[in-house]
Amino acid sequence: MSNLASYAVTSDHSRGRLVQETAPVGRSEFQRDRDRIIHSTAFRRLEYKTQVFVNHEGDLFRTRLTHSLEVAQIGRSIARNLHLNEDLVEAITLAHDLGHTPFGHAGQDALNECMKDYGGFEHNLQSLRVVDVLEERYATFDGLNLCFETREGILKHAAKRTAKKLGDVGARFLENTSPSLEAQLANFADEIAYNNHDVDDGLRSGLLTHEQLDNVTIFSRHLAQIKQQYPALIGRRLTHETIRSMINTLVTDLTQQSILNIKNAKIGTLADVHAAPLLIGFSREIKEQQQELKKFLRDHLYQHYRVVRMSNKAAHNIKRLFSSFNANIKLLPIQYQIKFQQEKQQAIADYIAGMTDRYAIREYRRLFAIELE
Ligand code: MG
Repeated sequence: MSNLASYAVTSDHSRGRLVQETAPVGRSEFQRDRDRIIHSTAFRRLEYKTQVFVNHEGDLFRTRLTHSLEVAQIGRSIARNLHLNEDLVEAITLAHDLGHTPFGHAGQDALNECMKDYGGFEHNLQSLRVVDVLEERYATFDGLNLCFETREGILKHAAKRTAKKLGDVGARFLENTSPSLEAQLANFADEIAYNNHDVDDGLRSGLLTHEQLDNVTIFSRHLAQIKQQYPALIGRRLTHETIRSMINTLVTDLTQQSILNIKNAKIGTLADVHAAPLLIGFSREIKEQQQELKKFLRDHLYQHYRVVRMSNKAAHNIKRLFSSFNANIKLLPIQYQIKFQQEKQQAIADYIAGMTDRYAIREYRRLFAIELE
């Protein structure tokens, strides 16, 4: 990759993989990481995991898979604008949600509660566990054996107690240093993607209306612009044009503000990036507008009674599965019974976190329903 900034991560200077391998031919180290992620089992499962709307609620809502693809697209655009390593950003963004439970945040919160006496559960750490340990594909190592920089990007946050157990990839949480700009921007790509597609899915589902959203600064401003440009436009096209232009504003603002931050901090090398505070960010104005939109989505979409009802069912499903397995491990499939000997409750968490929405629903039925043929 030519024309990379002097502070970008380069494939040639990667800190390497946990298990040493020969250098890839015809692709960079981070392209190899990306390819391994796409071929993983956990990646395919994302197709049937909830983002906000449960998988069976409709064919047009985002799933974790389409969410991850949108994050990768936005991340790559920003990386290219900033002359950062696009392949690394693509690998991080495609892997960032691999550890998510079924049923979105409701599933993660329920599993965390179940695991509170056994070290807790956090989807971000679980994503790292998927790529480091859980995938079973290669002859000579567990997991996908990804490069340090990809793993660093996947691990968005970690408590100090947890970080101590994670070796090199946890060190920055103890030393208070910053991750690469590629890792920083992956988080923003995630945020830009979900804020915008949740508006879209919220409108499509009828849980949100244009009238409500007209009270949200960033939406109303873009809606007014589009109406002025295309006075006759209504319905889906009006929504899509508004969202398209919001994404464009956010990507442009993030790019411009980050360039300014990098310049003001006099960043010249990757070492400077690690030593500096976080440099990727929105302008103050856009940051405030993003926070307003987030609050709106929390109050009106994520807390909408129809979403809360589904979340409640999801939590019930996960908790009942967990407590039954934990009370009698003979209910677990054989390979997880074997894992339980070593890993204890983490083995149950791995089993549940790996389920798709519909697998979890079927598993619940297999465990608790007595039905005649
Ligand atoms: Mg995400």
